Amino acid sequence: MTIAIYAGSFDPITNGHLDIATRAAKLFEKIIIAVYDAPNKHPLFTTEERVEMARQATVGLPNAEVVSFTELTGAFAKRVKAQTMVRGLRMGADFEREFDMAMMNKRLFPELELVCFMASVEYQFLSSTLLKEAASLDGNISDFVPEHVAIALRKRVHSKM
Ligand code: ADP
Repeated sequence: MTIAIYAGSFDPITNGHLDIATRAAKLFEKIIIAVYDAPNKHPLFTTEERVEMARQATVGLPNAEVVSFTELTGAFAKRVKAQTMVRGLRMGADFEREFDMAMMNKRLFPELELVCFMASVEYQFLSSTLLKEAASLDGNISDFVPEHVAIALRKRVHSKM
């Protein structure tokens, strides 16, 4: 079975992430959306909340599964028997970081392949960080996240103010 993992913080999951997951789900028999526990990144949402939001967002993708992980992404991929790691690339911002990570991963996990998807034009500028900033300033975020994420995000940013 072809299994790919799509790992990230997903704090929270956006339509940009979902676009990548949906496209990947067409290429692989199973896609595991792997939510990094990210204890050092001080995420806005807990790991359980990020997993739950991603689960709800991907109910329409029968071959997608959402789980959390704490170890190195490559080690996690090996554990769940994924052959491929999926990443999304936005113009400019992502390439250098992704390139460095890819080189490191190739050294540490030579059998793991990387497939990068170019972010779709409409989501090139979309990041969870910008989204949180827009939400905290009452910007209209409805084009960028599923409805349940928008509700949770508005609630969370206002409870922190
Ligand atoms: P990380 O904490 O590793 O940066 P993210 O949750 O921000 O994780 O993103 C996970 C993956 O999704 C990364 O490969 C990132 O480049 C990609 N990604 C993030 N936002 C978008 C977007 N708007 N369009 C396409 N890919 C994206």
